[in-house]
Amino acid sequence: MIDQITSKPSLSTSPSAARAGIESDGACTAWVARAMKKPMSLERVDLGPLGTEDVEVVVEHCGLCHSDLSILNNEWGISQYPAILGHEVIGRITALGSNAKGLKIGQRVGVGWNSGSCMHCHQCMSGSHHLCPQVQTTIVGHSGGFASHIRAHWAWTIPLPDRLNFAEAGPLLCGGVTVFAPLAMYARPTDRVGIIGIGGLGHMAVKFAAAYGCDVTAFTSNESKFDEAKGFGANHVASSKDSDAIKKLAGSFDLLLSTVNAPLDWDAMIGTLAPNGRLHLVGAVLQPVPVSAFALILSQRSVSGSPSGSPVAIGTMLDFAARHGVVPQTEHFAMSKINEAFARLESGKARYRIVLDADF
Ligand code: NAP
Ligand code: ZN
Repeated sequence: MIDQITSKPSLSTSPSAARAGIESDGACTAWVARAMKKPMSLERVDLGPLGTEDVEVVVEHCGLCHSDLSILNNEWGISQYPAILGHEVIGRITALGSNAKGLKIGQRVGVGWNSGSCMHCHQCMSGSHHLCPQVQTTIVGHSGGFASHIRAHWAWTIPLPDRLNFAEAGPLLCGGVTVFAPLAMYARPTDRVGIIGIGGLGHMAVKFAAAYGCDVTAFTSNESKFDEAKGFGANHVASSKDSDAIKKLAGSFDLLLSTVNAPLDWDAMIGTLAPNGRLHLVGAVLQPVPVSAFALILSQRSVSGSPSGSPVAIGTMLDFAARHGVVPQTEHFAMSKINEAFARLESGKARYRIVLDADF
């Protein structure tokens, strides 16, 4: 089933062909990572025949998520090379498979972390397509958005509200829904919410939680972000590295949303949860998060996590963002500067999300 909906790249290395846009069935150009931690190079890619359920999109912009860097560097042990990264795609539909539903040629759409799912399992049939056991990740075994064109299943090709600022909307497709979905699931507007890590995901989380009406505390390891975090809507700021300062917030938060990919003083963080409070992890920290049973039992607290979001969650998040003016704060690079852009993300200096603009 998944084979029908994936666009597995088949690469030719002809440099003369590498400059061309799409010109025949499935031919496009893409920035290709041939091996772990190696710079990407522009290559000709054959996406193959368009599947009957698939949609083809000409890429205009694509956000750069830390997960792209983690896949480039095979930090999670799941990378497949050659890899075409990029999973915060904004573009226009150029072709529709014969069974693609609800979309039109020329329509502006987005594609995020996933670009297909089986469409018949319990999870897909109940609207949780992102939890499908066969969900197709956009950048593992599938060609992503740092390319002239991308393919995705029609259900995962998300129409964009007209009011959205398209050039800035890419980061919403992965980072945005990843933080919006747990806020929508677990937070109430009256809640005190802590956002841990003010990077690509975290700064969008602050904006969403503030727009929702929550009392928001931004935890950052970088004090130079304090003022900007307040500008994003945080009511309070705190250091994510200062255990004594964190302990002073004991019993405060209904929801803590962690976007960091590094270990913190988790004991102190869990101690800041109010009774019934929840620590929700979306940041891919590789080291285990130690939790003492009594830290959970006595105040009836929870620890949880979630991956990205369903197509409906993405659509709902985009509507919310358009309605409340939630716009990611971005730095734009031409896509031809992709290797510089990855280096800047890796340096931790990006403020706050890099977007690559297609220049094929
Ligand atoms: P990012 O822009 O690099 O932001 C990560 C933030 O974590 C940094 O800005 C920093 O915030 C904090 N951080 C990094 N190293 C730290 C350290 N040593 N100590 C304390 N804080 C540190 O990355 P992103 O794109 O937002 O992604 C964040 C994480 O979420 C990544 O692991 C990514 O793979 C994951 N992710 C998960 C999902 C999902 O579906 N669950 C989706 C997208 C991304 P401060 O400077 O404020 O401290
Ligand atoms: Zn991502």
